[in-house]
Amino acid sequence: MRVVNVCFHGIGSPGRVLEPGEETYWTGRDTFLGILDRVAGRDDVRLSFDDGNASDASIALPALQERGLTATFFVVAGRLDQPGSLSREDVRRLHGAGMTIGNHGMTHRPWRGLDPGRQQEELVAARQALAEVTGHAVRDAACPLGRYDRHVLGALRRLGYRSAHTSDRRWARTDSWIQPRYSIHAGDTPESVEREVLRRPAAPVRAKGAAVGAVKRLR
Ligand SMILES: [Zn+2]
Repeated sequence: MRVVNVCFHGIGSPGRVLEPGEETYWTGRDTFLGILDRVAGRDDVRLSFDDGNASDASIALPALQERGLTATFFVVAGRLDQPGSLSREDVRRLHGAGMTIGNHGMTHRPWRGLDPGRQQEELVAARQALAEVTGHAVRDAACPLGRYDRHVLGALRRLGYRSAHTSDRRWARTDSWIQPRYSIHAGDTPESVEREVLRRPAAPVRAKGAAVGAVKRLR
């Protein structure tokens, strides 16, 4: 089945110092709620939240629950319990509410070109730290900054991850191991998301997207 993966980052006002350029991925609360209203009831839309911001628990969780929605939260393990980020208790609450917890690394550094020690920290130790919080295995990963190559994908497969989420702005197949996603940007509105994300692109656009994905998988 074809689905569209929609990815949010922070919502509202950041409670921590952002990385350079990161503010372009934050969205306002009303915009966020307006987008959720448009995806509620659609079985071809999947939601995820990256970076483990505190707004995942304070804003996203109640809004999802009000609409009967679930999502995957890709958490940065090294930020747990830090100001502006999720606490361990928040992560337990998300998990207890039926949300999926995924790995987004220990430090949010990109996963391309890591030496073995750092790769262990980002892909293994971070996953382990998150699993210890909920008491459940962490099986899904999202590549920080959307960066990956065949080495990253190979490592994730070897380590037994169930899925690898990217940011390639294409529709996905439910049975695919790689899950491309559309990140919501600061300038997006519910209307623009409806038009540009929630409608499946025409065939020529899809072919271009598939070609871009192939280049990244094989490099
Ligand atoms: Zn991220």
